[in-house]
Amino acid sequence: ATPTALLVGTGRGAQLGLLIKGPEVLESTRRVDTIVLDKTGTVTTGRMALLDVVPVPGTSREELLRRAGAVEDASEHPIARAIAAAARAELGTLPAVQEFANREGVGVVGRVDGVRVEVGRLAPGTAPPADEPLHLAALQHGGRTVVRVVWDGALRGALVVADTPKDTSAEAVRRLRALGLRPVLLTGDNRPTAEAVAAAVGIDEVVAEVLPADKAAVIRRLQGEGRVVAMVGDGVNDAPALAQADLGLAIGTGTDVAIEASDLTLVSGDLRGAADAIRLSRRTLGTIR
Ligand code: ADP
Ligand code: MG
Repeated sequence: ATPTALLVGTGRGAQLGLLIKGPEVLESTRRVDTIVLDKTGTVTTGRMALLDVVPVPGTSREELLRRAGAVEDASEHPIARAIAAAARAELGTLPAVQEFANREGVGVVGRVDGVRVEVGRLAPGTAPPADEPLHLAALQHGGRTVVRVVWDGALRGALVVADTPKDTSAEAVRRLRALGLRPVLLTGDNRPTAEAVAAAVGIDEVVAEVLPADKAAVIRRLQGEGRVVAMVGDGVNDAPALAQADLGLAIGTGTDVAIEASDLTLVSGDLRGAADAIRLSRRTLGTIR
């Protein structure tokens, strides 16, 4: 490979809205056969909306939204922003939160009105108690994410949020398949929600309920099966997986940490750029050889 031809490739990449770290990146795109796509913020817009507030009997809607909103107000997660914004819009100011902690890929916890409030999913590997007062699975249809709100050790209600696929995601998946790549959806979200999003954009391989710390291990496992893996992600929690992948692609609208961990950045946030990048680099290499 001559350096000049590779640089032409990176120049064309810039025109297509791709930031490529170095010409050597093009080389690693050649053998890629699998493309792992993070769900939230990559395949979907990442702009969640609060669709439903479901208190258990004995808890009021206002109390549920106020306490959950107060804790989520301290988090930057897309789910947190949706819940805090909706709570503030409905209730005005929110109470202060103490002892706030973020539980990566699970949720948040903090003290509000003197009680310890947890918002998020069940810790992985934990079964929901059989006697829960809400049938949460019934709220989870059609790609909705159901967030649990617990205080004083008991489930107090559920908040239902949803995020929709980007307009360009289904087309991007078609283009990636046309290049012979196998798309895989990777997410910390629950399986029914992940499968609904995957079905909407044409992906049939789903790895769900994965903790942020385990995303890189999923990439390693695929590599261990002999697959050459590209990964596209946006979040802080995607960075180790982006670094582990044979080719890491960051969504340009994502976090700096993800961008730094990647070989290539899709400036506009449009997933179709991933297909452009791989097609371009294969073509560039073709002209060199
Ligand atoms: P993804 O892998 O799709 O980017 P995350 O790893 O950020 O998602 O989160 C995985 C899951 O953990 C979410 O779907 C949600 O159920 C729960 N979760 C994470 N952060 C929060 C939060 N701040 N509030 C409520 N739930 C959360
Ligand atoms: Mg994400």
